[in-house]
Amino acid sequence: MGEKIYNGIPASGGIAIGPALLYHPQGLSAPRRILRAEETKGEVDRYKEAMAKTRAQISELEAKMKDKLGEEHAAIFQAHQVVLDDPLFMDEIPQAIQTRRLNAEFLLVEALDKFRAVMATLDDSYFRERGGDIQDVGNRLIKNLTGAEKDVLKKLDREVVVIAVDLAPSDTVNMPTDTIKGFCTDVGGRTSHVAIVARSLGLPAVVGMQSLTAEVQDGDMIIVDGNKGLVVVNPLTPTLKQYQRLKESYEAFQKSLEELRALPALTPDNHQVTLAANVEVPQELDEIFRHGAEGIGLFRTEFLFLNREEIPTEEEQYSAYKELATKTGVSPAIVRTLDLGGDKFLSHLNPLNESNPFLGLRAIRLCLKRPDIFKAQLRAILRAAVHGPIKVMFPMISTLAEVRESKILLNLCVQELKREGQVFRSGIEVGAMIEIPSAAVMADLLIQELDFLSIGTNDLIQYTLAVDRVNEAVAYLYDPLHPAILRLIKMTVDACHKAGKWVGICGEMAGDPQFVPLLLGMELDEFSVSVSVIPEIKKVIRMMPFEKSKEIAQAALQMKTSEEVLKLIRDNVPPELKAILF
Ligand code: PEP
Ligand code: MG
Repeated sequence: MGEKIYNGIPASGGIAIGPALLYHPQGLSAPRRILRAEETKGEVDRYKEAMAKTRAQISELEAKMKDKLGEEHAAIFQAHQVVLDDPLFMDEIPQAIQTRRLNAEFLLVEALDKFRAVMATLDDSYFRERGGDIQDVGNRLIKNLTGAEKDVLKKLDREVVVIAVDLAPSDTVNMPTDTIKGFCTDVGGRTSHVAIVARSLGLPAVVGMQSLTAEVQDGDMIIVDGNKGLVVVNPLTPTLKQYQRLKESYEAFQKSLEELRALPALTPDNHQVTLAANVEVPQELDEIFRHGAEGIGLFRTEFLFLNREEIPTEEEQYSAYKELATKTGVSPAIVRTLDLGGDKFLSHLNPLNESNPFLGLRAIRLCLKRPDIFKAQLRAILRAAVHGPIKVMFPMISTLAEVRESKILLNLCVQELKREGQVFRSGIEVGAMIEIPSAAVMADLLIQELDFLSIGTNDLIQYTLAVDRVNEAVAYLYDPLHPAILRLIKMTVDACHKAGKWVGICGEMAGDPQFVPLLLGMELDEFSVSVSVIPEIKKVIRMMPFEKSKEIAQAALQMKTSEEVLKLIRDNVPPELKAILF
């Protein structure tokens, strides 16, 4: 068994060494099993039991939903009960078990695949919606049949390196870092959800490995080099020793950064920026100040909605945001309203099976379609804001109308809370993310109706360059230094400053130390980055003269290619910084 080295996309720095755990998230894969004649009756019974279980689960969900949000919202589950009576589930599968002598889950997956292919050719929204329902019910039934163990990653009793085709947000929420030392996925790019989570948890990770899952066996020794984007399978002793040394020196470097914790993000020529943290899951809140953050520039709220069937209540959200306010104290925290869709998907909220989810009913679009969900979140935010300086930020804004409509709903919540005599804070600061080119181009108009903007480069790059941020096959085109991106950033910054407002950047680009000298010179007021990279980014800021960075930015905006921009940065940073960055 020789050592093998594979290349991927570096997603989160550091080195992890440990045995592989091949993780197959519960999903629609169901291996084919041929049945003996005498087994078919038992298989039909097993299928019927799963049907009954599915029916009971749906009834329970329906009752819960009715209780929490009223009759109208429970309708989706009533529709699901009707779907269970569809001939596909009632007759076709049991018949196929007997005639084709195959296991139920395999037949279901096959039938659903065919069904999906047919639905994709239809252009009628009624059928599409019904198609979504059948798919949802089918998935639930398959889970009940396969008994796919939930939360396998959360119940580990040993240290592992996780190897998976992909990890869904539901897998990564609450991932235990005491047992999971790093991970590698076949799919994904630097800004896919899974890569962001890795950085926020400080776990070394490599994504876009293409077919590593086919090469690795459970228990193989794995080295994840998250700095270079390499994975070594079954390393020979000299390699293992070399990586153990590298791991130690990387960890020592990280430790040496701790002395920066209490120092401001101030350049040698006294230009100060705010260095804030992006928070994915509440566990990180205890870490952010230890890493020297000055607040939270992006509090993602999707964690509240994932891994569950029902929508979190206003009360539940209020306690989460109150915890945020309490833990951050006097430091500002920007709560971003729900950004589901794209690669953060919740089938029961968006059952349309969109063929282009990143261009679909995502984020603010979904919230404006579902004011019930949106208002519960806004009310919870307004109430929690009495406990600390919380601001609110809307994602995926592409038009002024969306800003206005969102603000109307926010005001409506203010009026409601007032009428009800609730304690809340009015006059909360309101901002929007600039992550769609249309928004960047009209930042001057948007900022007139907002208090601040924050540039979400993860999506801005995806939408400007037409490069799916989670598709490893086009990852080579995903280029933060593309001249078009630099111009959009500069345009947004200038628009805000002209209006006398502040502007931040909260995409992953801000957390890449090589880009910081340039972004500083673009005159961004706030950098919001994953918790684990805060010390390194602070170190770069403290070594980079602002005047020099402005020269770099000015020159960069004249460059024709990203290669030229990178060379410009390399050639113009002070030598002691160059030694760290390049
Ligand atoms: C972004 O798009 O840059 C961003 C910060 O939001 P998310 O990664 O959650 O889409
Ligand atoms: Mg985004």
